[in-house]
Amino acid sequence: MSAPPFNKIAIIGLGLIGSSIAHAARRENLAGRIVGYDASADVRGRARTIGFAHLVADDIAACVEDADLVILCAPVGAYKSIAAAAAPHLKPGAILSDVGSVKGAVIRDVGPLVPPGVHFIPAHPIAGTEFSGPEAGFATLFDGRWAILTPLPGADAEAVGRLKAFWQGLGSQVDVMDAAHHDLVLAITSHLPHLIAYNIVGTAHDLEAVTEGEVIKYSASGFRDFTRIAASDPTMWRDVFLNNREAVLEVLGRFNEDLSILQRAVREGDGQTLFDTFSRTRAIRRAIIEMGQETPAPNFGRDFKK
Ligand code: NAP
Repeated sequence: MSAPPFNKIAIIGLGLIGSSIAHAARRENLAGRIVGYDASADVRGRARTIGFAHLVADDIAACVEDADLVILCAPVGAYKSIAAAAAPHLKPGAILSDVGSVKGAVIRDVGPLVPPGVHFIPAHPIAGTEFSGPEAGFATLFDGRWAILTPLPGADAEAVGRLKAFWQGLGSQVDVMDAAHHDLVLAITSHLPHLIAYNIVGTAHDLEAVTEGEVIKYSASGFRDFTRIAASDPTMWRDVFLNNREAVLEVLGRFNEDLSILQRAVREGDGQTLFDTFSRTRAIRRAIIEMGQETPAPNFGRDFKK
């Protein structure tokens, strides 16, 4: 077996994404050693029991020392304090990366703390589930999914290449773009849908008294798919909206305008507008399936048994 591309990988934050990276890196022999750290002693204990890391350290310094790749996998609101604690212990030449769902704010918070000689290359895997915690991770999470790297201008090309190869090794396809563009794209593809899901499930819950429990009972008719998204981790998503405010407000404004058009069409009985809109959106789902990012099976391929 050939030598792994990294001698030591440090993973800070051992939830869904951090543990999945560890599982996949072990599957593909991408690291000689994987050392993890989590702020929660309970999570550290559970991670040790599962055993996806060679070692779970009790402090950040021990986790990152001598690592040639350090990946921040905590909620983005915690990155600044993690980076401040890790910075003095980073090895010259190491790559410091992350998986945060927003990129501009991560560059703002972490960038100034990166010591000279350390390559800071932010990243974001477009892969996840509504589950969190160390038990939620699995080795195939990134297979066939996209990972986006947002290197800063002037980033070391060799280091960017090594990180790109790492994500490809985890099973991902990799794109490179600037952070502002990432944040705008993700605002519409991920952040706005979560805001809508949190809102509609919240509204339906408030209406439960009016509908006498029928929202839950008849949830198969559309509502249920929103509840999956709205079950996502509240800390992570709070931090996303606090840290991608401008882009989210921009797409939310556009969303409200389009919703007003549909509202008027419903009010005025404008079937043509409704039909045209619904036909266009159906084609988008077909395109996502053709790109291999969704199953063509009915009902998302769910094997739902009563
Ligand atoms: P998660 O399952 O909740 O795991 C995050 C872990 O980080 C938790 O164990 C948490 O501990 C720990 N943590 C919190 N503050 C910390 C700190 N200061 N130092 C070290 N560890 C700390 O969340 P996740 O889904 O893996 O998300 C992690 C990151 O991935 C986020 O930045 C998110 O934006 C990004 N991401 C998520 C998805 C997704 O679908 N979930 C997809 C792509 C990217 P406690 O639970 O005790 O707070």
